[in-house]
Amino acid sequence: MLRFVRTGLVLALLLLAGVLLYGRSRSHPEDMPWTTLDLARPIGAFTARKLAALGGDGAQCRTLLDRAGVRFSVLPDRSDGPRCGIRDAVRFRPGGALGVRYAPPDLGTACPVAAALALWEWHVLQPAALRHFGTKVARVEHFGSYNCRRMYGRSDGAWSEHSTANAVDIAGFRLEDGRRVSVLGDWPGGDAKSAFLREVRDGACRLFATVLSPDYNAAHRDHLHLDQAGRGALGWRACR
Ligand SMILES: [Zn+2]
Repeated sequence: MLRFVRTGLVLALLLLAGVLLYGRSRSHPEDMPWTTLDLARPIGAFTARKLAALGGDGAQCRTLLDRAGVRFSVLPDRSDGPRCGIRDAVRFRPGGALGVRYAPPDLGTACPVAAALALWEWHVLQPAALRHFGTKVARVEHFGSYNCRRMYGRSDGAWSEHSTANAVDIAGFRLEDGRRVSVLGDWPGGDAKSAFLREVRDGACRLFATVLSPDYNAAHRDHLHLDQAGRGALGWRACR
């Protein structure tokens, strides 16, 4: 008899868990591993993984950007040897759902990087700018994306994610009121600009596979490196 009661209780609990999980996946699909990525949703527990996984599906990635109102052009594929080249890369065009401009304006990245940058602007950059400065970011200054080189420009060792435009280096920001925030100049300050930079770095960690800042090493003292490197079985990520 006791065994039946116990089994019934376990079944009831399992049913309850299922109902709760179903409700959660309906109201917060971004927190579920099995739902399709939707750039209109807030950043969820699995958003970064889904963004990185878009690397294998350029058409799907471009559809997501399109649906989210991001204006972009598709860059022609190119190959610069066995380790370097771009495939399914995109370049932002002004207007549409993006409020910021990129400077220099010819930023072309792998599509999953572009999709993460759009979410970064909407959910991280602009809210942080409003909170710290009472105004929005007008311009994102960068050091570029595609660069056929190994990590740190060394002559041997692992190839950089830049060699496939799967990374971007962010150097600073120009606010709508003209103020400038630079990683090199304002990271150490301990003021609002420095707090803003740390906040946008931490926010990027929810969208990119790898985020490296001046906290990581001296090579990153003047920029935030953001990339969508594929993750190993252990899901290794860097956020520092
Ligand atoms: Zn970089």
